[in-house]
Amino acid sequence: MFDHPSFDGHESVHMFEDKASGLKAIIAVHSTALGPAAGGCRMWNYATGEEALRDALRLSKGMSFKNAMAGLPLGGGKSVIWGNSKTDKSPALFEAFGRAIQSLNGKYYTAEDVGISTKDMEIVATQTKYVAGLDQGEAASGDPSPITALGVYRGIKASAKRAFGSDDLSGRRIAVQGVGHVGGYLCDHLAEEGAELIITDIDETLLKEVSERTGAKIVATDEIYDQHVDIFSPNALGAVINPETLPRLKARVVAGGANNQLSIAEMDVALRDRGILYAPDYVINGGGIINVAAEISGAYSRNWVMGKLNVLIETLEEVLDEALKQNAPTNEVAEQIARTRIANAKPA
Ligand code: NAD
Repeated sequence: MFDHPSFDGHESVHMFEDKASGLKAIIAVHSTALGPAAGGCRMWNYATGEEALRDALRLSKGMSFKNAMAGLPLGGGKSVIWGNSKTDKSPALFEAFGRAIQSLNGKYYTAEDVGISTKDMEIVATQTKYVAGLDQGEAASGDPSPITALGVYRGIKASAKRAFGSDDLSGRRIAVQGVGHVGGYLCDHLAEEGAELIITDIDETLLKEVSERTGAKIVATDEIYDQHVDIFSPNALGAVINPETLPRLKARVVAGGANNQLSIAEMDVALRDRGILYAPDYVINGGGIINVAAEISGAYSRNWVMGKLNVLIETLEEVLDEALKQNAPTNEVAEQIARTRIANAKPA
């Protein structure tokens, strides 16, 4: 474990198996220096236990950085349930998962991630209070994507200011990949400001809806990388900036809500070398976790969320300015700031 390439000094890694329900889960706690670890639960049919472990470790480290950059009193953690989210779910499985979370006594808070719904989390919440992202209840924060999208929109403006000398998006050509929860709200903000949108998605119905609402031009999924645009905004999948797609991009800015946009760490340097300003994904998409943090605090407040979002955008601006000043890749600068914040955290 200690030699695992993704271990990165994890505080603790917990494995749970419940034979009766079939639960096999890993809870990885990367850091609690800034507060209890928080990060969603992913249910995925991994080929091997090693793959599940790697995902848990990689994602929980990512949450440490995301929470630190969002200025939240939260550390980084993540859980994975090894199973098929279409066929292996049962109330007993989520109850067992809830007991696993409870056994950590608040060291880790969970919420939904890929493969997990609010309904699943409601079952988890019958066994533990360390759950967020619920639809109902006093502090429930509901769907975080409007806040995520607002943060991404403001992050795009901040990036545009640095790349083009103005944050005015009217007439700017922007390619938006994925018009689901985050991408859909984002298109509304961009269209309202007069941006010229080019959109793609695998969901034809959604595409049509967003296009009718915003006047966006629709292109096929693979064509989105070849568009003559100023800004490319990934809001669907991870690993979309890779050695195959990067040479095709004509944009001077990459800024979007999708998690893990870079296929490999080296893409960070490659983006810088092509003169593309990249807004690190875990900084620009921090609005969602800010919303969840408001729920964890026990008293959801819209004002608090908006205040934190302002600080998040200031942090993104600091990352972009520092990277431009040093001619350094933006991800590298963001990671340095995140690691310094974690290292300097005062014990609670
Ligand atoms: P979503 O499922 O609502 O939207 C994703 C969209 O991408 C869907 O409409 C889907 O059809 C589309 N898509 C899938 N494959 C595609 C492809 N090959 N080409 C183009 N489009 C494709 O999810 P979401 O909540 O909007 O999240 C989008 C991204 O943002 C994810 O990477 C997610 O992890 C990240 N994110 C979301 C939030 C949030 O608040 N929802 C917060 C932080 C990060």
